[in-house]
Order: sequence, then structure tokens, then C-alpha cells
Amino acid sequence: MTAKQILLTADEMPRRWYNILADIKMNPPLGPDGPVPAEGWAPIFPMNLVEQEYSTERWIDIPEPVLDVLSIWRPAPLVRATALEKALDTPARIYFKNECVSPPGSHKPNTAVPQAYYNKIFGIEKLTTETGAGQWGSALSFACSQFGLECKIFMVRISFDQKPYRKSMMQTWGGKCVASPSTETKAGRDILEKDPDTPGSLGIAISEAIEAAVSDTSGKTRYALGSVLNHVMMHQTIIGLEAKKQLEKVNEYPDVIIGCAGGGSNFAGLAFPFVHDKINGRDIAIYPVEPTACPTMTRAPFVYDHGDTAKTTPLVPMHSLGHAFMPPPLHAGGLRYHGMAPTVSQLIDEGILEPKSVTQLAAYKAGVLLARSEGIIPAPETNHALACVVDEALKAKEEGKEKVILFNWSGHGLLDLAAYDKYFSGDLEDYSLDDKTLEESESVFADFPKPERLTCR
Ligand SMILES: *Cc1c(COP(=O)(O)O)cnc(C)c1O
Repeated sequence: MTAKQILLTADEMPRRWYNILADIKMNPPLGPDGPVPAEGWAPIFPMNLVEQEYSTERWIDIPEPVLDVLSIWRPAPLVRATALEKALDTPARIYFKNECVSPPGSHKPNTAVPQAYYNKIFGIEKLTTETGAGQWGSALSFACSQFGLECKIFMVRISFDQKPYRKSMMQTWGGKCVASPSTETKAGRDILEKDPDTPGSLGIAISEAIEAAVSDTSGKTRYALGSVLNHVMMHQTIIGLEAKKQLEKVNEYPDVIIGCAGGGSNFAGLAFPFVHDKINGRDIAIYPVEPTACPTMTRAPFVYDHGDTAKTTPLVPMHSLGHAFMPPPLHAGGLRYHGMAPTVSQLIDEGILEPKSVTQLAAYKAGVLLARSEGIIPAPETNHALACVVDEALKAKEEGKEKVILFNWSGHGLLDLAAYDKYFSGDLEDYSLDDKTLEESESVFADFPKPERLTCR
């Protein structure tokens, strides 16, 4: 019998994160006076996390108290998707990391836990953040409860209305959640004045959360971001580092790596330890996957743009649809961001990562196939990766190739069942963006400086 799950013991859990900044060159974030120095972030993030954001050390130790909390669900299983292989009759061997096993049900606590810890030891008492589908808000609430911090969450209005149970999770862990845009911040009030019925966006919610953090005069509040930043990508590498050890146990190495990408963190977490090998000559195809309705990587250019709608953040080098982009009301809330992690964007620009896009309907179709084969009901975000996995497995069948496919099952969909209902009743649609809408939304960064062409090889 082939083992279904490949498990690591507590002793085998990785003790260090992999920092890709040791292996690639990056354009710096820019403020009004040029490159932003580390201290420039001090009002927003604690300095110990800012140091990580700028660090070029290849390996960074995971603190013991962080390992203790991660050990509630880690090491996470690597699963051989034998039932899917059978359903597709493919010669490919398919493996996935199961990140659904964390208390909030996704990969997000892999960074929420260290972020809460570093804030705590820096003397911070309260964290503010934004959330789309509610996965990040619930992960940060969970992490804050583990370290005794207060947590305030601005949740994108459309998700706030569509996903009441994520709010309940945040509340259970002690977090306080409001719909964004809210009347609690100037950024929120300004948007509501112009458009009282706005569904909200991650860009707006980020503006609100940052404003709420920096306007607290006690100095004990900071902001936390669930994706995009370098240190977030690094915290997530525990996924790929575990996967590597697990694959070694069964003498495998991936030919193809796939993850869905909203801000890029679960994808980067799985892929970056293997990107390191690719930079050093290994032949691997690495695919971040996004929705065709929010085509940041596949249709938007690599530019300097703001991370939020109110232009609070410095300019960062990334693929961007424009900081004012209003994505269609897609059911994968975690994939509605206008930008992409600068590290992921840089690697796309260098041709090391090859982004793909899939439609919402193709994503749900794959999600249902996986639920009926592997058993787990996937998060709508994960479904986008799954559609690409199915394509690759069928391609391997056509070519008669025994490829090894590794993907990340970023979360479960047990709180996204309303979206599945819509899919089954035929009420989900595919959205595609016309060139004119894209051109307009991208006009916002026309006058910004352009990132330099850099290469690591
Ligand atoms: C938030 C989320 C995503 C998208 O965020 P990334 O930073 O791109 O990983 C994907 N899957 C799930 C389950 C999520 O909660």
C-alpha cells in the first residue's frame, strides 16, 4: 500500500525560515524622498519585523514560542492525491500540502503567529488589520489570542455580508470586526461619501487599518498584513521546507509546483524553497495561479504602485492593476487584491515563475472534483490552483509522462458553502475584463518611477 499521508515528527519540523532576499535582487520601496529606509516603517510595524523585511540572511531562526504555537497543527501533512490520480487516470504523481488543518483552516496563521509574537515582545498591545474573505482576520484573531494581544479587523463589506461565520470566528478568538469602508476612519468616510453602496476592496480596508494603527497616540498599536510583504512570504516558507523533507522521505522531487496567488503568500511559502533550487540550475515549472477576473500577474505590468487605495503605503515594485482597481465581486475574496508580492513579481519578471489564470467556473469545477475524490472541500481560492493541477495532470496523461506535481491546498471551504450553493444552482458567472477597463485602472501609475530590470542569474 502506498502511504496516503507523508508525515514529519515534531523533531523534524523546520527550525528556520528560508529568506529569498538572500538569492534575488529587488527594487527598493520608494517614498516621496526616494528609497524608504527601514526606520520609515516604524509607525506601522514593530522594528523587529521591519528588520526581517529588509534582511538578506538566507536562514532566520523561528523563535521557540512561535514553534510552540505552530505545533498545534504543524508539521502539516503532505498528502498523495491518489484518488484524484485515479479519477483523472493520469500517470502523474500528485502531492499536496494540507494547510486546512490549522485552527482557522488555512495557511494564514503561519505568519499571523510570528507577527503576533514579534509585536508582543516589542511591547505592542493591539494589532489592526484588513481582511477579505475573513481568513486573515480569523488567523490574526487566533494568533493574538495566543499571545494576549487585542485585534481589530476591517473586513471588506461584500465579505462581511456574505460570510457571517468568519466574523463569529474572529469574535470567538476575541477579535473585533467591522465592515469596511467604515465610518471609523477618514479613509473609510471619504469613500462612503463618494459611493455609499460600495462593496469595499482590500485596498480600502488596508488604508483603514493603517490609519487606525498610526492614529493611536499611545504608540502601542501596530498594523499587520497577511500577505505581500517579504517577511510574510518568509514565514510561509515553512510549508515548502516541510514539503521538501516529506518528498525526500519518498524519494520524490517535483517537476511542477502550483499554488493560487492573491497577494502571493501561500504560493511563495510552498514554492520559494524550490525557487532556490531553480535559481541554482534545477529544472522545475512553477505556476502561481490567479482568477481571470483579477489578472494581476497575467495581464498587468510590473510597475511601482501603492499597496492601498488611499496611497498610504510607499510605492512598491509589483505587478499591479492600479491601486484604485475595483475587482468584480468574485467569490474567492482572498484573490481580489490589485497587486502582487514584490518578491513574486520580481521572479515573474525574470521568467522564473510562469503565472496562469483560470476562470471562476473552471475553478469550482475542479474544486468539486477534488472534494469528491480527495474528500476535503476546498476554499474558493484553492480551487484556482486545483483547476491548474487538473490541467497539468491531464497534460501529463496526453504526453504519457510520469510527472510529479506538487501543489498547496491553502484552505478548506467549510465557511464558503454559500458560494458552492451558487455554483450548483448555476448562479456563478465568469467575469472577464476588457482591455479598456484595464487601461483605465492602470492609468493611475503612469507617472510613477519604473522599476529597474534586475536579475539573479
Ligand atoms: C488568503 C488566502 C489565499 C490568498 O492569499 P495568498 O497571500 O496569495 O496566499 C489563498 N487561499 C486561502 C485559503 C486564503 O485564505
